[in-house]
Amino acid sequence: MKLYNPENGEQASVVTLANSADVEIAVAAAKKAFKTFSKTTIKERGEILDLIYQAILERRDELNQVAINEYGSPISATNARTVYAAQIFVDTKAAMEEFQFSQTLDHAQIIQQPLGVIAAITPWNADYTHICGKLAPAIAAGCTIVVKPSELSAAQTQILTECFASANVPEGVINILNGTGAEVGSALSEHADVDVVTFTGSTAVGKIIYRAAAGTMKRVILELGGKSPNVILDDAHLETAIPMALNIAFSNSGQACHAGTRLIIPKLKAAEIKNLLIQAASKLKIGNLQDADSFIGPMVSEKQYQTVQDYIKSGIAEGAKILVGGLGNPKGLDGYYVRPTIFTGVKPGMKIEREEIFGPVLSVIEYDNEAEAIEIANDTIYGLSAYLSGQDKSRLDRVSSQILAGRVLINTVVNKESKSPFGGFKQSGIGRTSWKYGIEAYVEPKVITLY
Ligand code: NAD
Repeated sequence: MKLYNPENGEQASVVTLANSADVEIAVAAAKKAFKTFSKTTIKERGEILDLIYQAILERRDELNQVAINEYGSPISATNARTVYAAQIFVDTKAAMEEFQFSQTLDHAQIIQQPLGVIAAITPWNADYTHICGKLAPAIAAGCTIVVKPSELSAAQTQILTECFASANVPEGVINILNGTGAEVGSALSEHADVDVVTFTGSTAVGKIIYRAAAGTMKRVILELGGKSPNVILDDAHLETAIPMALNIAFSNSGQACHAGTRLIIPKLKAAEIKNLLIQAASKLKIGNLQDADSFIGPMVSEKQYQTVQDYIKSGIAEGAKILVGGLGNPKGLDGYYVRPTIFTGVKPGMKIEREEIFGPVLSVIEYDNEAEAIEIANDTIYGLSAYLSGQDKSRLDRVSSQILAGRVLINTVVNKESKSPFGGFKQSGIGRTSWKYGIEAYVEPKVITLY
């Protein structure tokens, strides 16, 4: 299968796809390796995590360039993700060293026992960070892993695979299979020798995997889609809140699960906010992916480009008003570039307000009072992230406590706490990853009582 650069249509990489017979080989290798790897010490596993960290940083520039070629993300965002991917191994090592793998009580010992073979299925957007986010805790827990990356991430996966190979990882502990979801992903989800499926991707595929895993009652960790609200309270500092709102709506060109795609604003401040949105949008740097200040790149594929165009058409057809952007490409940019688009006059229930678009399209919804703002924020099947801006502390506490989301970021769009769990409420997922929560996902508590 050939992969194309979304910016210029040139061939980016060629990938050989694994099939279900390869799944058997990989799972058997992981199962065999688990017997010894599950008995390794924290020190031994810590050395592996350190070596992978170093290897990723050594290949950083290369990884950045293939990721830009494969999915068209600007250099500064790509580089930040590469550094983050490496950092996951350092953070996970620290979490492992703190983790209570064994606890002695008065009458029993509780052991957190590694579960076995992990199957990790990941999406194309920032794929290597997702692979690292699933793989590092598997190593920390003493599990073995079979990874099926997205079909669209072959070259970045290849470099990562080489990083893993250089880290003295025993044979069979890490297995990587490029392949389609329909063949390799589904074979892993239902495989009797896979103990956990950890998946990041769309809610629709998450549901298929959840059903497939039920046959053998394997544990599932699902990190799924979002339609995250960004609530602006009427005492918010608008000059910072509005540029921040565009930052989180359009980061990774809107192709981010945690994108704040519903901007919920007080009706009384609507005129001022619309002016600030126009101003902030005019400053967004589109294209020239190698420039440090470039912010928006193309959609990953022609399919995704078309999907986003169709959503913009549906917003127009349902009566929303275009404040910024619209159909077609930005001036002078071919490829799969979409015009960053802001709709006002969006009503709850419109398709652009309900569904995850996965492109740079922001819906602005007006509210009359705080209770209505909270109701609109929660009126979604998703609950991954939420954003909130305002000044009054007691009000911020009251509103944030009522929002149903895995995380609520107040007056910021960046989560700076590396020890926090990541995951979603409602149909945004099941389970949590990151820090000790990632390790917990791969262990099973066992009580041993001796008389
Ligand atoms: P996707 O669901 O189409 O594919 C994700 C992975 O699942 C791919 O590797 C694909 O090959 C595989 N797959 C497809 N069908 C399968 C099947 N029947 N059985 C097993 N595996 C199958 O998602 P995508 O388009 O690659 O990524 C975008 C989606 O991912 C968005 O919905 C986004 O919100 C979500 N996402 C979520 C998070 C999060 O942390 N919550 C992070 C990033 C992306």
